[in-house]
Amino acid sequence: MNGWLADAMGEEFRFLHEQRMRLALGQARRAAEEGEVPVGAVIYDAAGQLVGKAWNQTRTLKDPTAHAEVLAITQAASAAGDWRLEGHILYVTKEPCPMCAGAIVLARIPLVVWGVSDPLRGGAVSRFKILQTPELNHRAEVLPGVLEGECAAVLKGFFRQRRIENKGARDELRETSDE
Ligand SMILES: [Zn+2]
Repeated sequence: MNGWLADAMGEEFRFLHEQRMRLALGQARRAAEEGEVPVGAVIYDAAGQLVGKAWNQTRTLKDPTAHAEVLAITQAASAAGDWRLEGHILYVTKEPCPMCAGAIVLARIPLVVWGVSDPLRGGAVSRFKILQTPELNHRAEVLPGVLEGECAAVLKGFFRQRRIENKGARDELRETSDE
C-alpha cells in the first residue's frame, strides 16, 4: 500500500472523511427530495479538490446506470481529463452495488469510503467482493462505517415514507372500489 493510502486509512483522517461524507449525505437527502433512493457520492482528487458530486438519479434520468457513484466518476474523469482516477477517494453513503464497484475498479480509484454496508447486495466487499478480487486488474482499499448511523437513517426514513405512501395509495384504491 502507498504511504498516502495507509495514512488516509488512519484514525487521524477520520475527521476529514466525516466532513466529506457530510457532503455525500447532503446529496443523498437531495435524492430523497426528488423521490430517488437516497444515495449520495462525492469524489476528491489527490490535491484534496472536490471533483465529483452526485445523487442517485435513476428515476429522473430514466437510466438504470445513473447511480450516484457512476455520475460522480464521470464528473471526476472529466475534471482529471483522464479515465484513471489514481490518487482519488470516493465517498458514498451506502456500499456500492456490483455495477458501481465495477466502475470503481475500471477507474482505478484507490480508496472507497462508505457509510452503511449492504450485506444483502453490497458489491464492494459484503456480498460480492468486486473491489478486492485478485483476478481483476485493480484493487481498492475500503473504509466502511463512516457516519454509518446518519447514512442508514436517510435510507430508512425514505423507505418508511414510501411504505406510508404506498399504504395510502392502497387505502385510496380500496375506498374507490367500495364506492
Ligand atoms: Zn450502484
